[in-house]
Amino acid sequence: MSSMSNPPRPAPGVLKINPYVGGKSGADTDGPVYKLSSNETPLGPSPQAVEAFTKAGQSLELYPDGGAHALREAIAARYGLNIERIVCGAGSDEILSLLAQAYLSPGDEAIYSEHGFLMYKIAILSNGGVPVVAPEKDCTTNVDAILERVTKKTRIVFLANPNNPTGTYISHDEIRRLHAGLPANVLLVLDAAYAEYVRRNDYEAGIELVANSENTVMTRTFSKIHGLAALRLGWAYCPQNIADVLNRVRGPFNVSAPAIAAGAAAIGDGAFMEKAADHNENWNEWLNAKLEALGLGVTPSVGNFLLIHFPDRKGRSASEAEAFLTTRGLILRRVDNYGFPDALRMSIGTEPANRALIRALGEFLQ
Ligand SMILES: *Cc1c(COP(=O)(O)O)cnc(C)c1O
Repeated sequence: MSSMSNPPRPAPGVLKINPYVGGKSGADTDGPVYKLSSNETPLGPSPQAVEAFTKAGQSLELYPDGGAHALREAIAARYGLNIERIVCGAGSDEILSLLAQAYLSPGDEAIYSEHGFLMYKIAILSNGGVPVVAPEKDCTTNVDAILERVTKKTRIVFLANPNNPTGTYISHDEIRRLHAGLPANVLLVLDAAYAEYVRRNDYEAGIELVANSENTVMTRTFSKIHGLAALRLGWAYCPQNIADVLNRVRGPFNVSAPAIAAGAAAIGDGAFMEKAADHNENWNEWLNAKLEALGLGVTPSVGNFLLIHFPDRKGRSASEAEAFLTTRGLILRRVDNYGFPDALRMSIGTEPANRALIRALGEFLQ
């Protein structure tokens, strides 16, 4: 027997992963702390969701319904969907990972956009896939750049629409053009985590394309507008062939009973969602105007967050802004690892948070 060290080795690709780093949450200050670093809603969840969660807490000894039937029924009712094609997951992150697991073999390629959500790269590398990056134009997905990168080895295209951290989106016509340009055996994953916030006539989350194709999946989350990030809950609308595959690879009880109950209540509370989207739209506009008046660049966002660009100048850089804001209890997100060393991402917050941010940035830039 050898005494040489020979520990278990992970599958190829795993050690190439840079672990995902979530938004910071603490600040060393006596005043209020505003966490604007993870695109969480400032309004909390619907009271109906909280009530359902509390009630579910009285039966924690029971396994959840593995088919998450009540939740899928509520989702189907809200959007007029075929319940058989809805698959739920522990966050949409789980669904993205399951899609990569089911459709990528070692050496297969998967494409995502230059400033696309970092979970795609992690899901691809975890499954031995080869990440392929398509450059963007003006911080926006470039359909031609994606199509140019399709090869015989391409299996998946991951696309966040709107994208995080840029907040930009592409129109449904562009999505259709992308789909039409892909070989039929390539899976198109439309990650619509922020769809509920978008109020543009030329935007569609992807339901129609999913209904009429065999290679498109739309993912959604309860972490953003529904305010249930702590519960880890997401869902996918799939062609039947893909729903069948996800139901084979997912854990039999991948969604908890409190999450099922709270999610079903949340998606039934349309008035609450409307209120949240209104809040977001109004403060998005207000923040944009104030930030531009301060001389900062802002990428136009249809999400619940803004990408703020700082001058690459000593004393005024994004990292110095982040440090200064933290002393004021304002926690924003560094986005260096998304290719933006000179920018910070802020979630649109409550009125006090938004006002405090503009005040603090005014001081910082003086
Ligand atoms: C926040 C976010 C998600 C949601 O992830 P969950 O696992 O559902 O919390 C998915 N995609 C993007 C682009 C996001 O920003």
